[in-house]
Amino acid sequence: MTRKISILGSTGSIGVNTLSVIDTLKEDFDVVYLSTFQNSKLIIDQAKKYQPKAIVIVDDSNISDVKNALEKDNIEILSGREGLLEISKRDDIDLVMNGLVGSAGMEPTLNALKASVDVALSNKESMVMAGDLINKTMNETGAKIYPVDSEHSAIWQCLVGENIKDVNRIILTGSGGPFRTRDVKTFPEINLTEALNHPNWSMGKKITIDSATMMNKGLEVIEARWLFNLEVNQIDILIHPQSIIHSMVEFKDRSIKAQLGIPDMKIPIQYAITYPRHALAEWEKLDLAKIGNLTFEEKDVDRFPCIDLAYQSLSVGGSAPAVLNVANDNAVYSFLNKRIKFTDIPIIIEKACNAHKLVTNPSLEELLELELWTRDFVMNEVDKT
Ligand code: MG
Repeated sequence: MTRKISILGSTGSIGVNTLSVIDTLKEDFDVVYLSTFQNSKLIIDQAKKYQPKAIVIVDDSNISDVKNALEKDNIEILSGREGLLEISKRDDIDLVMNGLVGSAGMEPTLNALKASVDVALSNKESMVMAGDLINKTMNETGAKIYPVDSEHSAIWQCLVGENIKDVNRIILTGSGGPFRTRDVKTFPEINLTEALNHPNWSMGKKITIDSATMMNKGLEVIEARWLFNLEVNQIDILIHPQSIIHSMVEFKDRSIKAQLGIPDMKIPIQYAITYPRHALAEWEKLDLAKIGNLTFEEKDVDRFPCIDLAYQSLSVGGSAPAVLNVANDNAVYSFLNKRIKFTDIPIIIEKACNAHKLVTNPSLEELLELELWTRDFVMNEVDKT
């Protein structure tokens, strides 16, 4: 049976990996929609190869190139944020892969679920910002989320056949990033090249910086809270530098299940789009004898204050995680643009979290307003540094 799929963020790391999984899978996928932020060259190639019904280019400065290149193909070309939102509402597909980056991914996730379309979710920021709203929407329409984040995919796999009521806690593993052992006194001098050099995973720039500050793990705690309906105190972080165990579930009888694999996003991507199957794949096997040692450490919150900021925002609840998330997005972009220091990232996020006026049960409109407020607040702080 052919499954119709839409890939949002098709030119990013997750999108490109999704298309490469689809290419090698022995099952049929029909690529119906593709979207990019601004990579006109790659989306032209992808459109020619997959012949989707429509594509979106959000930043439309190169739209004439795209239109010229696809002149002879029968492909609808949309542009702007409106184009992305419009395509995410369409219900003539079975599945959306949301590989968008940052807060921009939240509304498309909600749009798909409202249209009763299942979502393979790589955009963890959707869950961080609007977890409660997303769960309510899924209850209303029956649409489902399939986690793509490797830790959440691991927990999901460990929970197959289990009852969530029998879970004591989950243990999210994290590599600790590139600065796990660096002298913390030198953190203010961390430069972009160093921060973009992740030891195990090859990913997009935003998430790579999140891994270096360990905000990524904090966001994953919030994501897990909503994906699996757990309490804050049931979600722990464990540092595991080899990134072989992708996460674990501890049950009430203290039995622990773990999921292991090579650190390659194609594995959780494939599971999310072929669930409930573990379909045949030809990639490298995990060779535990060759790896030899798997090691574990406590998380270091003094070194990585972003972890505590994330836990705090979850304890506060309401709109607090959304503000944390948008503040992080904008602080990270400012670091990527070399406007602030690495150590300014948590300082600015904390200021935004403290300054914002809490909304208890934020609606989509309130979340979008908060997104603007938080961006302005952070950019104002960035100007002051
Ligand atoms: Mg992850």
